[in-house]
Order: sequence, then C-alpha cells, then structure tokens
Amino acid sequence: MGIIVLHASAGENACCLRLFCPALREMDVLNVEDLGDTMLIAARTVASEAPCPKCGLPSTRVHSRYRRTVWDLATGGRAVKVELEVRRFCGEPSCDREIFAEQVGGLTRRHARRSTALRTLLTSIAIALAGRAGARMAYLVGVPASPSTLLRTLRALPDPEIGKVTVLGVDDFW
Ligand SMILES: [Zn+2]
Repeated sequence: MGIIVLHASAGENACCLRLFCPALREMDVLNVEDLGDTMLIAARTVASEAPCPKCGLPSTRVHSRYRRTVWDLATGGRAVKVELEVRRFCGEPSCDREIFAEQVGGLTRRHARRSTALRTLLTSIAIALAGRAGARMAYLVGVPASPSTLLRTLRALPDPEIGKVTVLGVDDFW
C-alpha cells in the first residue's frame, strides 16, 4: 500500500491536497489553515493564459487580480473553503469583450460560490430529500446548505422533457 505524503511546504509538494481536492491540481497552494470544522485553503491560479468566454481566443495579458471564495466538497468530514486569487485578462482587440475573469475548470463558474462537484452533490441531496431533510443530510456530510438553498437548486434544474403523448385520458386534464 502506498503512503500518502503530507504536504511539507504547501507548495509544489502539496500532493495530498491535490488528491483530496482535484480542482487544485493546476494551482499554487499558498496556505492551509485548520479552522476546526472547516479547512481553509489559499490558492492562486498559475495558467499562463485564459480563453475569452465570448470568442474563445486565449489571452496572456493580465489586467488585474482579485480574490474570490469557493466552497468545495468536504474532506475528512470537514467543509473545504478555498480562497482563490484569480485574474482578469484583457480581451483581444478583435473582440468586443475588453476584460474577462478567468475560470478554474471544476472549481469556479461565473458568480458561483460552490465548486462543480459540490453543486452536483447538493443537487442530488435536494432531489432525494428536498429542503429540510436535505439540509440535515448536507450538514452531516460536511457540506452545510440551508433548506432554501436546496430548494433553489431544485428550481434551477431544467424541466424534464415530455415524451410524445400517445394516449391521453380524461384525468390528464386535471
Ligand atoms: Zn473575446
């Protein structure tokens, strides 16, 4: 059985973090702090370029940096909060998008405060248990979410496609 090497400097060797939080694989981990029921990870993006969300052309010209917070799946039963330093890039002159923010695959999405994996988990909990019971389950698995958040998640789901109607009964009008 292999041994998982604990991160020594939270830099290049932060391999256990990358195992537990795969979304951090492409990032510089700056610091890890144990806050009791939450693990706080400070990280920054290092990719040399980012694609424009409008035209898809990559840009290497950094406009500015800013911080954002994203919650990820729990690790060891504890919530994982990632404080990310991300960049805004200048768009290409051929595109009317002058500035855009970079996104980290699997972790960030425009305006979202939860990672893709966490949103998927909360959506599954909401589908199975809805608001209050779902909130209790989410708390137990280390990803606290309020009943209203879970219900919002349900409402945001696309409507299921209605198949071709072959037989229509009187009851279908009620
Ligand atoms: Zn563009």
